[in-house]
Amino acid sequence: MAAEPLPLQGMSDVAAPEVCLWQHLESTARRVFSLYDLDEVRTPVLERLEVFQRALGEATDVVQKEMYAFEDRGGRRVALRPEGTAGVMRHLAGAGDRGADARLYYWGPMFRAERPQAGRRRQFHQVGVELLGPARPAADAECIALQVHLLREWGLDGFSVHVNTRGEPGDQLAVSRGLQSVLEARRGEAWCDDCRRRMDANPLRVLDCKQEACRALADQLPPVSSWMSAAAREYLDEVLRLLEGLGVRVAAAPRLIRGLDYYQHTIWEITHSALGAQDALSGGGRYGIQMGGRQLEGVGFAIGIERVVLALTGLGVQPESFRPPPTAWLVTAGRGLEADALALAQTLRSRGIACGANLSGRNIKAQMRAADRARAPWVVLLGETEKSRGVVVLKNMATGEQAEVAPDDLVVRLLASAPSA
Ligand code: AMP
Repeated sequence: MAAEPLPLQGMSDVAAPEVCLWQHLESTARRVFSLYDLDEVRTPVLERLEVFQRALGEATDVVQKEMYAFEDRGGRRVALRPEGTAGVMRHLAGAGDRGADARLYYWGPMFRAERPQAGRRRQFHQVGVELLGPARPAADAECIALQVHLLREWGLDGFSVHVNTRGEPGDQLAVSRGLQSVLEARRGEAWCDDCRRRMDANPLRVLDCKQEACRALADQLPPVSSWMSAAAREYLDEVLRLLEGLGVRVAAAPRLIRGLDYYQHTIWEITHSALGAQDALSGGGRYGIQMGGRQLEGVGFAIGIERVVLALTGLGVQPESFRPPPTAWLVTAGRGLEADALALAQTLRSRGIACGANLSGRNIKAQMRAADRARAPWVVLLGETEKSRGVVVLKNMATGEQAEVAPDDLVVRLLASAPSA
């Protein structure tokens, strides 16, 4: 049986021209991260299952319903990473003193066995940042400001940053009990079955339900911070003050809780109006994670690249505009000139001149069409006659003008016209 030429459902190939936009996003991100003194970390895509169970929390939707978890050939329970933070923490737990104040970023594929729909994939990509260190409002404000800086450098406009607090670790029981008691009084309302279960098992998760009806009901509940310590509320106020001082506009979101258990203090989500139902571009927050006998503290975020691409293309960005055309296209007229054409292309490329060519023996018309499609501003024509006289024909594709030039002059002229030269 022939293999289906399609990826698995909910997974996609990223090819030209869209991949040109991805490359631009990635190089811009690296440039911005270097301004903030971050190092890259590349962790494996596959980890021991317990790495995620431990870091994200056993009761979370991601761990319970969405992980690609299986036994490998050695009978070990492993999982494809559904997010990036757990693997980075596993790495830092084994990194000695460096772990305590590391400033890292990652970029790569994540996997969640969700029902695919627009903006929700089973393989998707995230770029994320982790700034390790104890809870300080300034660290959280720096992290949010960094993220807003990156989104702006990508050319994104029209996004909103929603900020809230999960409180201090000691507040969680009071929040859970407080929420449970107000939910108990409203159990008779039109909550979904999942939410009814969550009311007993994990009431905070009720605030994270995706159902319209539950969201509307949740909006009527008191802010979660009303059950927290004064210190937790002051911490959030300080983060908001610092952001205002930096000119970073954010909105208070008193019922935002985020879907993972490891958060404490500041949490946030960034949405974009061009995205439709799955409007979250990114999520982030401060966390405390137990890993390998260590308690790691930090603040971080992850941005969904597919959604950034959707938002940018929704704003009219053309992915192909990020693929610069080759400076020249080599057209070969006549058989037996392959070696000469190859040598000429090699010379141009070794001098830093991007040069396209079809060396597969197609006729001149087809080669000219290819030059046109590639938007090459110059065509270099090599034929028998030119070869015998030691020249090539250089054609300006915009004006149609052409002239015979010696190979040395060719390099000089093309270097002078190349945008990056
Ligand atoms: P989360 O930590 O789940 O909030 O994920 C952070 C960001 O990753 C989200 O705001 C989305 O942009 C993106 N994301 C999460 N899950 C998916 C998915 N299944 N498909 C595409 N993007 C996703």
